[in-house]
Amino acid sequence: MDPAEFRLRHWPDPVLLQATAPVERFDAELEAQIARMWEIMYAEKGVGLAAPQVGWPVRLLLQNPSGSADDTSEAQVIINPRVLKKWGKHVHQEGCLSFPDIFVDIQRPAGIRLAWQDETGAEHEQDLNEFPARILQHEMDHLEGVLLVHRMSPVDRIRYRFELEELRAEAEEATS
Ligand SMILES: [Zn+2]
Repeated sequence: MDPAEFRLRHWPDPVLLQATAPVERFDAELEAQIARMWEIMYAEKGVGLAAPQVGWPVRLLLQNPSGSADDTSEAQVIINPRVLKKWGKHVHQEGCLSFPDIFVDIQRPAGIRLAWQDETGAEHEQDLNEFPARILQHEMDHLEGVLLVHRMSPVDRIRYRFELEELRAEAEEATS
C-alpha cells in the first residue's frame, strides 16, 4: 500500500477489524511505509501504532515508550510478532489513537516473551515487562481486530457512551 494513503483511522472504521497479513517483503517500500507510520504516530502524540490504524492491514507495529521523536533509545519496529510466554497480571489505564479522549483500565499479563522480525527481516526474541509490555499487547490486539471497545467494562461503555456516539457520527458524516 502506498504510504501517501496512510492516515489515522478512528473507530468504527472497518479496516480496524480486518484480518491482517504477515509482512513478507523487507524492502525499500517497507522502509517508506514504516517512516510514514512514525510520522503519524509522533504527530498524534502516541507511544504505539499498529499498521491497521493507518489503513494498512498487515502484522506490523511501532512503539516508543518516550512518545518523542527526540528520544528513540527504546523505539522499536515489531513485525510478525508472536507471544511465546506470558506471566503475571496487571491493571493499567490505556488510551488509543483510534479512540480519542477515551481511557480505560484493562487487565493484562504483566510481562511477555515476544519473538518478532525487525525491518530488515532479522529475528528477535525478548522479555518485556511493565510499560513496553503494555504497549506491545495493546498494539498486538490491533493485529487481531481487538479494540478498546471490546476490552471495555460495561461501566466504561456507559461512561464513554457520548464519546463513542460521537465517533460513530463522525464516521457516518465522512461516508455520506
Ligand atoms: Zn490502539
